[in-house]
Amino acid sequence: MIIILMKMRRLTAAAMALLVLATGCTSPTGSSGSGRLSVVVAFYPLQYVVEQVGGDQVSVANLTLPGVEPHDLELTAKQIASVGSADLVFYERGFQAAVDSAVDTQAPKRVLDGATIVPLRTTPGFTGEAGTPSTSALDPHTWLDPRTMIKYASAVAAELSQARPAASAAFQQRADALVAQLTALDGQFSTGLAACRLKVFVTSHAAFGYLAERYGLEQVGITGLAPDAEPTPAHLAAVQKIAQEKGVTTIFSETLASPALADALAKDLGLRTDVLDPLEGITSQSRGTDYPSVMRSNLSALREANGCL
Ligand SMILES: [Zn+2]
Repeated sequence: MIIILMKMRRLTAAAMALLVLATGCTSPTGSSGSGRLSVVVAFYPLQYVVEQVGGDQVSVANLTLPGVEPHDLELTAKQIASVGSADLVFYERGFQAAVDSAVDTQAPKRVLDGATIVPLRTTPGFTGEAGTPSTSALDPHTWLDPRTMIKYASAVAAELSQARPAASAAFQQRADALVAQLTALDGQFSTGLAACRLKVFVTSHAAFGYLAERYGLEQVGITGLAPDAEPTPAHLAAVQKIAQEKGVTTIFSETLASPALADALAKDLGLRTDVLDPLEGITSQSRGTDYPSVMRSNLSALREANGCL
C-alpha cells in the first residue's frame, strides 16, 4: 500500500512538472508569473544583448529573421501582434519604419528605444542621386561601436529588472559580465587600430560610420546607408579615385547583401576583396557565431587591409 501511494505521489509530481513546463512554453505569464519574460527585438545586435542579460529569464523573438536584411523590413500580421503582447520591445526608432509603426499601433506595455540611449546622427558627406542630399540620412548603425552595446547592456538590465524585480540581481550580474566582455573588445579595437598605415577603408554599404569615428578611421561606402541603394556613376568614380589616391588594398563586401558591386570595383582596380560584417544578422556564412566573435573578425580584416601594427 505504501509503495502504491509513493508511486502515485511520484506520478503526480511528474504530471505537475509537465504542466509547469507546458505553461511556461505556451503562455508567457509576464511580470507576475514564473514563466519567461517575452521580449521582442527588432534586429540581431539587440537580440544578443537581451539574451546575454536576460539569460533563462527571457524568451527572445527577433522580428528580423535569420538571413533577412533588416533595412526596409516588412512584418507579418502575426509579428505585429507579437509586438503588442510582448513584456518588452527593444527597437531603434528611425531605422525600420514597419517596426516604428507596429510600436505605435500596438502600444506594448514596455518599450526600449535604442535611439534614446545612443542618438542617431546624420551621415556627413553622403549624397544621393545627382548630388542631392540622401532622403534616408539618419545613420542607424550605432551597434558597430562596442560602447553603444555597453550602454544597451545597462539599459536592458534596468528594463528587465523593472519587468521582473525578483530577478534584478541576476540581470545586473549578467549585464556586468557582458559589459566586461564588451569593454575588452573596445580595448582590442582601440589598440589594434591605433597605428595603421592607412586610415581609409572602402566598404559595401556605409554601415561603419560610428565604428570609424570611434577608432579614428575614415569610411568610404560604395552604396549609402542602405545596402540596396544604387550608387550613381559619379559616386562610383569618386570611390575609385579615393581608393587609388590613398593606396587602398581591399574592397570590403558583406554577408547579407550582394557582393557584386564590391567585386566589380575590386576587379577594376586590381584589389583584393574581404568581408566586413555590419552584424545585421548572423548566418552560417558569418565569420563568428555572435556579436563579439564577428566583431573580432572585422578587426582582423581591418588590421590586415589597413596595415596596422
Ligand atoms: Zn545597414
